[in-house]
Amino acid sequence: MQTSGRLSTIAERVEAVRLRIAGACRRSGRSSDEVTLVAVSKGFTSEAVREGTAAGLRHFGENRVQEGQAKLPQLTDISPRLTWHMVGHLQTNKVKTALGLFDIIHSVDSLHLAEAISRRAPPSVRVPVLLEVNVAGEPAKYGLSPEELPAQAEAIRSLPGLDVRGLMTVAPMTGGDEELRPVFRSLRRLAGSLKLRELSMGMTDDFELAVEEGATIVRIGRAIFGERSGR
Ligand SMILES: *Cc1c(COP(=O)(O)O)cnc(C)c1O
Repeated sequence: MQTSGRLSTIAERVEAVRLRIAGACRRSGRSSDEVTLVAVSKGFTSEAVREGTAAGLRHFGENRVQEGQAKLPQLTDISPRLTWHMVGHLQTNKVKTALGLFDIIHSVDSLHLAEAISRRAPPSVRVPVLLEVNVAGEPAKYGLSPEELPAQAEAIRSLPGLDVRGLMTVAPMTGGDEELRPVFRSLRRLAGSLKLRELSMGMTDDFELAVEEGATIVRIGRAIFGERSGR
C-alpha cells in the first residue's frame, strides 16, 4: 500500500489517532471510553482491514453496499467478529443486502428509507440506526433538515424493527473550526432534545473538534489507511 509521511504503518496511524482522540477527550473533560473509533475502509482492501484489526480496531465502516459485499465475506474468519457500520447513502433497493452485511446503519436520511429497513428487518430484531442530519443545509448533501428532524424522528421511532440510537452528520468539507464547531454543537443539541445518546460525527479533518463537542462515534478513513486513490 502507498504510504506517505512519517507515520508509515496502519498500526502507527491508529495509535496516533487514538492519542489525538484522548487529547480531545482530556481537553473537554471526557473519557476516551465514551468514543468509539470506526475505521472507514472504503477504497481499501480487506488486507488493510486485517492490518487494522491487528492494531486493535474492531469497528469498521463502508459507504457502499456493493463494496461491502465484495470485502466483508473475506473477513468473516476474524475473531472476535468485527462490527460493521454502513455510513453512506443507502438506496431502498439495497436495504435487504445491507442488513445482511452491516450491524448498524448511520445514514437513515428519510422516512422512506426507515420504512424500508423496518419492513426488511428480520423477525424479533431491532436494527440499530442513526438518523443523518444535514445540519448546515448543504444542497448537495443527504440528510434530514434540522427543522424536519423532530417530526421525522418521531415517525421513524414508531416503526417496528428499528432501534434509533442517535444522530449522524457529515460536516462541511470547507471551513475552519469557527464554522465546524457550531455544526457539531447543533447536532449535539438536536440529539439532546430528542433524548438520543449516540452522536456520529468527526472524520479525518475534523474529528478532534467533534470529540470536543461530544462525538460518541468518530468515522475515520484517511488518517488510518492513508489517502484514497482515484475516488
Ligand atoms: C469516507 C467517509 C468517512 C471517512 O472520511 P475520511 O475523510 O477518510 O476520514 C466518514 N464518513 C463518511 C460518511 C464517509 O463517506
